[in-house]
Amino acid sequence: MVLQKLARPLETLVEEGYFDPVTKIVRAITGSKRHCANWQIEGILRMLFNVLDGDVAKDPKNLIVYGGTGKAARNWECFETTVDALLALQPDETLVMQSGKPVAVFKTHELAPRMVMCNSMLVGKWANWEHFRELEKKGLIMYGQYTAGSWNFIGIQGILQGTYETFVAVADRHFGGSLKGRFAVTAGMGAMGGAQPLAIKMNDGVGLTVEVDEAVIRKRIEGGWLDTCTDSIDSAINMVSEAKGERKPASIGLLGNAADVLPELLRRNIVPDVVTDQTPAHDPLSYIPSGLSVKEAEELRGRNPEKYVSMALESMRKHVEAIVGFVEKGAIAFEYGNNIRKNAFDAGFEKAFAYPGFIQAYLRPLLAEGRGPFRWTSLRGDPQDIAKLDDTLVREFGHNRRLVGWITKAKKYVRFQGLPARVCWLGYGERARFGKVVNDMVAAGDVGPIWFGRDHLDTGSVASPYRETEGMKDGSDAIGDWPILNALLNTSAGATWVAVHQGGGQGMGYSISAGFGMVLDGTREAEEKAVRLFTLDPGIGVIRHADAGYETSTKIVREKGIKAPMIS
Ligand code: NAD
Repeated sequence: MVLQKLARPLETLVEEGYFDPVTKIVRAITGSKRHCANWQIEGILRMLFNVLDGDVAKDPKNLIVYGGTGKAARNWECFETTVDALLALQPDETLVMQSGKPVAVFKTHELAPRMVMCNSMLVGKWANWEHFRELEKKGLIMYGQYTAGSWNFIGIQGILQGTYETFVAVADRHFGGSLKGRFAVTAGMGAMGGAQPLAIKMNDGVGLTVEVDEAVIRKRIEGGWLDTCTDSIDSAINMVSEAKGERKPASIGLLGNAADVLPELLRRNIVPDVVTDQTPAHDPLSYIPSGLSVKEAEELRGRNPEKYVSMALESMRKHVEAIVGFVEKGAIAFEYGNNIRKNAFDAGFEKAFAYPGFIQAYLRPLLAEGRGPFRWTSLRGDPQDIAKLDDTLVREFGHNRRLVGWITKAKKYVRFQGLPARVCWLGYGERARFGKVVNDMVAAGDVGPIWFGRDHLDTGSVASPYRETEGMKDGSDAIGDWPILNALLNTSAGATWVAVHQGGGQGMGYSISAGFGMVLDGTREAEEKAVRLFTLDPGIGVIRHADAGYETSTKIVREKGIKAPMIS
């Protein structure tokens, strides 16, 4: 007798065209038909598919979502088995993901998270790229970045508001509140860096963004993130001076390598008002060294990684030397979260830390208030859901002019990638209030189920001494207790899933961070969990900053009645 082979659960999704096991093409799942036992689990499944959608991920065939090589699953076998596991998961079970591999399903209880995950967590002494790569080669580990491995990535928009807010703060502090007639230089138009041209333009400035990969530039123009481009430094300079002269907001792309273009601008004494960078410098095997095309870089990376790394570090040194050269001529510079100063320092440039990181210089006051890049998606893929939530947000928080300004600009400029989404830097108190309102809307059928999450770059969820926690008032920059406490608290609050990562945006050894996902399905249980989660998640951020001596945070602790035994 021939036994018929049991079909794998994921074949339903193959039949519906959401996954092709041969070409490995993944598409965001939309519509109201559920595939999993409930919407909590369906939400996890949909966010996994969303981060690997061809319009969202940087290199979906290799499971890479963004940020150098930040991945969503360890390999395709792990991806497919994870999907099978989610499709079979019961409402009282918890799936355990270890660096992108589904290792266990345990019976827990209905209010517990449906999934817990930990990515690239190496013990301190071994937390370096060399050891990570040995383990990666053996198939034992995966680099999760921040929102890649935790399935919280929503496309470039996720970083857009943070980038926009940074340039708002730069304009306020140094240029009387606007970048009108000002010129900013940066590099890297990847999944995060691609937000820079638009963020500069939204602040009325003229942005010149250098990118080494022509295909990436084209994609950004098609997506509406960049206006125009050139491969000639001379015409780029002309375009900049014309736009600057007319005080016209503009975003200009220049095909080239930042390690060549910035020193050349400096040599010609073309000094920008603002300079930063978002090349993937956190990972020397992703940063493209001067003198190599994208193709040549790929070939050398495989053939001689040691040579590649030493060329990349040497290029980063030249790149940062030029940034410091601009600073010495009066430009405002900040590192944009990619660890380029440390790599340039290690490559022998002693003045690499002559300029600050963006959090220390501009965003800390927001984090100290318990604010951060909170975000949501319409799980059924309906843009109207997001439009209704935009309106609700403006109605609920209309007194907050900065927030209303952001929503107005986002509606005008942002084109969705994958599931329709919105990012909004809500703070302590606001997140819980909004969560309750949204769950009521889901219950009433005004909108479909909504997923909520946030970047790991948030108020209390990360320790990263060259980025989020650089220059903390009390010197507690490298203390990793806080993100772990954050994850423990979010687990006890009943988030739909909780993730802990090491390495994040700064690379191996430089950060520990935590994230979560929460599905609002209109049930009473979802409301209870969300109100708890959206209170204590930013709450531990307020406490972390109050503990470090930030007065705004201490004031919030007192005014909002957060119980903090050591704060009177
Ligand atoms: P990515 O890998 O998606 O894209 C990087 C881009 O830089 C690519 O398009 C690549 O072609 C280009 N590039 C590489 N080397 C270059 C060079 N020498 N000159 C010009 N272009 C070059 O990365 P991403 O997701 O955009 O992230 C960029 C960096 O920002 C990473 O280090 C990441 O960790 C960091 N990051 C910052 C934040 C933040 O909040 N600011 C958040 C997440 C990540």
